[in-house]
Amino acid sequence: MKSNTGYVVLSVLGVAICILFLPMSQSTPELNAQESIANKTSNKIIMHIHANLSVTVNGKSLIVPNGIGINSSLWKDHSLDKFGTEQKANIFGLITPAMSPLHTHDSSGTIHVESTEYRNYTLGQFLNIWGIPLQGSKINLLTDGNSTENYDNYILKDGEKMILKIED
Ligand SMILES: [Zn+2]
Repeated sequence: MKSNTGYVVLSVLGVAICILFLPMSQSTPELNAQESIANKTSNKIIMHIHANLSVTVNGKSLIVPNGIGINSSLWKDHSLDKFGTEQKANIFGLITPAMSPLHTHDSSGTIHVESTEYRNYTLGQFLNIWGIPLQGSKINLLTDGNSTENYDNYILKDGEKMILKIED
């Protein structure tokens, strides 16, 4: 009786394994094709860092607004859009808006770098997306006590606090 039970269990297992693996091996190429299409269109975020920006204009603090790189009125430069995310809806129907790889989710000055590629992003690129007019102003960037006039090419770094001083 015991050996019979063992035989039945083994047979059932064998059949189950065949049923499991037969369709899997047949549909694998199709699955891979679907996956690669999904990867192209879902814009998976692989880089996610945060920097913090404070802005002063003639000594007065200027709020870095919520929605830079998300709201169309605060998304003036679209040259980096291919590294950001497209609008999508989740299973509950909630829509996540499209986002530039450089954006703000609040007015705390936190710059979110959320990119589909590992690459360097500069403060100048963020300011272009924001669309803040800087022509004719004297601009100084302070980072950890260091001052630089080359704010435009300054690479955003995770956890860094930047102070941008704009003087007319
Ligand atoms: Zn973030």
